[in-house]
Amino acid sequence: MKKQRAFILILDMLAGHWVKDSIAPATKLPPVNVLDYSEAGLLPAFKDTIDKGVFVHAWNKGTCNTPHGQKYLASGTYKSKSVPGVDPYWKMLEGADCETILSACKKSFPEGKVAGFGSDAWMQSGWWKAPDCTMGWGSYYSDLLTSQHCFKWMLENPDWNMALLYLAQYDKTGNCPLYKKDAKYTEDKHHSIIELDKYLWLVKKFLQEKGWWDETYLFIGSDHGCHYGCDVAVKEGRKRGIPEKDLQNYCSNHQDPYDCYVWDFKKNKASKTKSDCARRVTFMVSGGKLPRKYHGEKINYGEIIDFAPTIASMMGIKFKSDGKPLI
Ligand SMILES: [Zn+2]
Ligand SMILES: [Zn+2]
Repeated sequence: MKKQRAFILILDMLAGHWVKDSIAPATKLPPVNVLDYSEAGLLPAFKDTIDKGVFVHAWNKGTCNTPHGQKYLASGTYKSKSVPGVDPYWKMLEGADCETILSACKKSFPEGKVAGFGSDAWMQSGWWKAPDCTMGWGSYYSDLLTSQHCFKWMLENPDWNMALLYLAQYDKTGNCPLYKKDAKYTEDKHHSIIELDKYLWLVKKFLQEKGWWDETYLFIGSDHGCHYGCDVAVKEGRKRGIPEKDLQNYCSNHQDPYDCYVWDFKKNKASKTKSDCARRVTFMVSGGKLPRKYHGEKINYGEIIDFAPTIASMMGIKFKSDGKPLI
């Protein structure tokens, strides 16, 4: 069998797409999301990945917090014993009962090496615990350092089969402006997604420099998006004392309800257009191994639980889930 590998990049809180034709007054651009920002020329690495890959308009139809979202991504099912709102998150370990794509990969390819790198909470069984190497650090540990650890393991294990890199820091962009002049990484959404694009570039460059690119499928996923320009964001902003004039530039977090409506700022009320911003997740497949016939393909509808079965189907891994392979 010809060598094939999977690199899985999980980007916390990254909205993949948005309501068609919406424009944010603060930037005169669509609200911050992968597809529209790529098309606007602001995210060269994502744009290249979309052009040479498959883009899925994907949704989290379950609970849009990190414990649930990460679990859906890893296990391909919404069925979970996790209890929403439990604090600390550690309590949710009791719900770690499903097989994950990382462990299934090892079962199908016992000779291959499978590793995961990210925040320690999601490096547990049921999330991204990996059979050969798992490294987790505290919440919002540096994305740069996490990436370096992942790359180092790959260099030491050049026969790696599946590597997962989870970058958490973008998830700090909750309760923040959409745009702030000269903002640093995680101070607003606009500058943060541009920074995140550089991490994607770094991953691709690394795979290419090491000569692994042609053997690698690149899977990019996120657990949830965030509320912006909707009734939920406006309500939260008012609760937090954000001045009325600044509500158009305010992103709240990914709190419930996840079903929400586009806010009409002229009429100062919710419109009838569904926004559901916290449900808009990222789901992309690319990599040098992806056959050219898929380049530029867009899939109109997919769900977060289709992520793991899509990886399984492309990698030839036996895997049971409630989602379906999209490629
Ligand atoms: Zn999250
Ligand atoms: Zn919303």
